[in-house]
Amino acid sequence: MELIDTHAHLDFKFDDDITVDKIVAEAAEDGVKIIICACSSVDSLEKTTEIANKYSGVYHSLGVHPHDSKDFNADVDRMFFDLYGKKCVAIGETGLDYYYEHSPGTIQKKVFARETEIARELGLPLIVHSREADRDTYEILKSEYGDTCNGVIHCYTGNREQLKKYLDMGMYVSFTGIITFPKTAEIADAARYAPDDRIMVETDAPFLAPVPFRGKINYPKYVVRVAEKLAEIRERTPEEIAAITTRNARAFFGL
Ligand SMILES: [Zn+2]
Ligand SMILES: [Zn+2]
Repeated sequence: MELIDTHAHLDFKFDDDITVDKIVAEAAEDGVKIIICACSSVDSLEKTTEIANKYSGVYHSLGVHPHDSKDFNADVDRMFFDLYGKKCVAIGETGLDYYYEHSPGTIQKKVFARETEIARELGLPLIVHSREADRDTYEILKSEYGDTCNGVIHCYTGNREQLKKYLDMGMYVSFTGIITFPKTAEIADAARYAPDDRIMVETDAPFLAPVPFRGKINYPKYVVRVAEKLAEIRERTPEEIAAITTRNARAFFGL
């Protein structure tokens, strides 16, 4: 079974005694031969580029998370273009997070809009993070992209109605280990509703470890658990879900 972890933060801290070499090797042993290392902060821009350049199966994005949008400035803007290379396959994660609001909402919106511009300037898809902010996220995507957005809503935790709006714009949707948690019927309903050609899987490692590892450190190899749960929800075999999501991830990231 071959799987792609479409969103993992390999530049973050995992266990003290585990190296990125080991994380990547263990994932490959379990069939996760490709990992998209998601970029999230100004610090991450160089780090994720370096990690992706070191491993043939690792690609990366360039992006500043809404938590850190207050750090975005003209120099950071230039870094996107300086660091853009052949292993860079997306812009993000970017978007809006009103749950934590580590950066003021007005700044989040401005930086999100700018990152959508950079994505179009570089001809790359967009990785969108949205928490407690779906109305504004949708409005910004609509005003920036019009009817068609080359993007993915990552770590989807909303309902079917909201998902339909994103899907109608041509977007993809990606699910994490949250779908293995109890009391997530609404997300499961959305995960059942999404069409075959728009779904992807991710870990968001080192966060959001799926059951039975919940509460512990998450690793890209655990994306297998996400695929298994998605298969259960959609009444398909894990092998079918692996084939579908891998095909989608290849198409989306141009791999
Ligand atoms: Zn995120
Ligand atoms: Zn993330």
